[in-house]
Amino acid sequence: MSKKKFKTEVSQLLHLIIHSLYSHKEIFLRELVSNASDALDKLKYLTLTDDIYKKIKFDPRIDIKFEDGDKKKLIITDTGIGMNEKDLDTQLGTIARSGTKNFLSTLSGDEKRDANLIGQFGVGFYSCFMVADKVEVLTRKAGEETAWLWTSDGENSYSIKESEKESFGTTITLYLNDEGNEYASRWSLENLVKKYSDHIAFPIFLEYEDTTWEGEGDDRKEKKEIKVTQVNAASALWKKSKSELKEEDYNEFYKTIGHDSDDPLLYLHTKAEGTLEYTTLFYVPKKAPFDMYQADYKAGVKLYVSRIFITDDE
Ligand code: ADP
Ligand code: MG
Repeated sequence: MSKKKFKTEVSQLLHLIIHSLYSHKEIFLRELVSNASDALDKLKYLTLTDDIYKKIKFDPRIDIKFEDGDKKKLIITDTGIGMNEKDLDTQLGTIARSGTKNFLSTLSGDEKRDANLIGQFGVGFYSCFMVADKVEVLTRKAGEETAWLWTSDGENSYSIKESEKESFGTTITLYLNDEGNEYASRWSLENLVKKYSDHIAFPIFLEYEDTTWEGEGDDRKEKKEIKVTQVNAASALWKKSKSELKEEDYNEFYKTIGHDSDDPLLYLHTKAEGTLEYTTLFYVPKKAPFDMYQADYKAGVKLYVSRIFITDDE
């Protein structure tokens, strides 16, 4: 087993995340799901382009489950590309993204402003230390035999040791802290997936224990059953071309995201292509929101990057 210290910028980021991001702590799930989705994309690409990977049995999916014992756990598994020892060391021991480094240099020290920035920007994998005091990453790279276990308490160091895993992909186990306990619940996980990751292209499944009652009167018995259901819609309406969509599709989508029972007054769907590429889908509701004139009313347009919800603030 090897124990290593995080690079300075990781320690810096971890400190910041843990000490000033509490108001945004729920974004950890968006980050982990987005990494799982990236890992699935990478393997999908290889299975289409590389002969060695064409033989692999690729069943792309993301599975979320939780354990509600004394020490609550949250477990996220993907069947993506996985990581070997070197990947773990370079990807989870340093900050690989140049964007994150630039981001760190723009921090002002004003906690509120920084937390807001970080919430919009996404801090990636390390955000899980907001809700966990220990994280394990068990992973096996597609095409390789050895699995590896990365473990860290998110303070100064991490360790990597050889391990075993039946098939390729990654399983991340969060040992939830007091701040994270609330996420060991079917409803909060389902809500978070719907809020941030509904449009991830791969199916996201949630496993939970369902309790039903059987029989009558004194014979009534509790029946517990493990169930697995898909929680994301796995499609982004705005990514489809206008010619594929009917007015009805736009209206239905509006009602789900807008929590409105009425159709919208109008909608606008445009696509810009060039150096920057983006799609906009705007809706105007028939009725103004009831709280529009209240002092704390927040207006905003939802921003998604690669179909992942980033912010609706400003
Ligand atoms: P980013 O996703 O922007 O690269 P993250 O901090 O979220 O930054 O993740 C760092 C890196 O760790 C990823 O780029 C990827 O190489 C690796 N990684 C994280 N999660 C997974 C996963 N589930 N499967 C494979 N690789 C992963
Ligand atoms: Mg990421």
